[in-house]
Amino acid sequence: MRTPIPFLDLVGLHEEIQDELEEAALRVVRSGRLLLGPELHRFEEEWAVAVGARAAIGVGSGLDALSLGLRALGVDPGSEVLVPSHTFIATWLAVVHVGAVPVPVDVLPGTAGWDVDALAAAVTSRTRAVLPVHLYGHPVDLDPVLRLAARHDLVVLDDAAQAHGARLLDRPIGGLTHATAWSFYPGKNLGALGDGGAVTTSDPETERRLRSLRNYGSTTKYQHDEVGWNSRLDEVQAALLSVKLRRLDEHNARRAAVARRYDEGLADLDLVLPEVAPGATSAWHLYVVRTPHRDRLQEHLSGCGVETGVHYPVPPHRQAAFAGTPVALAHLPVADTLSREVLSLPMGPTLSPADQEFVIDAVRSFRP
Ligand SMILES: *Cc1c(COP(=O)(O)O)cnc(C)c1O
Repeated sequence: MRTPIPFLDLVGLHEEIQDELEEAALRVVRSGRLLLGPELHRFEEEWAVAVGARAAIGVGSGLDALSLGLRALGVDPGSEVLVPSHTFIATWLAVVHVGAVPVPVDVLPGTAGWDVDALAAAVTSRTRAVLPVHLYGHPVDLDPVLRLAARHDLVVLDDAAQAHGARLLDRPIGGLTHATAWSFYPGKNLGALGDGGAVTTSDPETERRLRSLRNYGSTTKYQHDEVGWNSRLDEVQAALLSVKLRRLDEHNARRAAVARRYDEGLADLDLVLPEVAPGATSAWHLYVVRTPHRDRLQEHLSGCGVETGVHYPVPPHRQAAFAGTPVALAHLPVADTLSREVLSLPMGPTLSPADQEFVIDAVRSFRP
């Protein structure tokens, strides 16, 4: 039997740039500067330029980028934050970590974006922020969200953990809202070789607060102006991310080519394929199909030697973490349906046309 086709091939990806990764890591080892040094400074500048923001602030993870971002934007304990019903749970956890209340708004099934009228209906006198998520790499249409926010005096922090390189009408995600949260978890489009994250913003005051919040509430050594965190992107990860950033556009183009081949190879099947909204450029973090026969299709593919993923099998409002809280009673039918029907096919820059052909044939041989 052939070796299974991995869902994401990180080993192959890193093999392509192994010399540069080793050189970067070694540079940090030899420098002795391990935190808040020149590698972080350089990567922050590169990442801000790449996403069209004035500044990037490196932090310890995507979850921290969301939490610190909310705190820096003034989301106080007790206030409400509108979140999508269908997302990775970290989006909701960040809201809880700053003492605020996640208020889920059910998504549209096609792109997991929002119907703005549904969003508007969820605004109350306690709403302080909106937290759109560019899920699977597909950018949420931010203009209507920003207009709604302006009308109700809300801040917008977008979760771009899955959307490095995504664009709206040729404007990159990352500089379009009050602040944008990024994850550099290894499996993301721009992944470190460990945990990492960043917030990008063009507002100097938000930048200043983030630099303080990530470092014990301090910008001058041993002077602490507020109750901060310890959440910093370390020098090794920053150096490795600078190497990988040089390949991001090329990697995303290879992902887009994989998506096109799936679109063509699966078009005539009884499967719902991913939609791309007009004007949107997806980063193709994941290629997610939908079918009511999801579990049996996944089993069939596994039997053929094709690894797949489910993003996500249990929606946040049904997680034990939220049992006994008001969101556990929320009526979110789209999120429930998606959790039963979504299946993520192998995706990544190193998926070869031959291996992808094998995946497509395996999907085509499924009989529901
Ligand atoms: C990965 C992810 C996060 C969390 O990022 P970590 O770096 O793993 O903490 C948040 N939101 C979304 C949508 C994600 O996919």
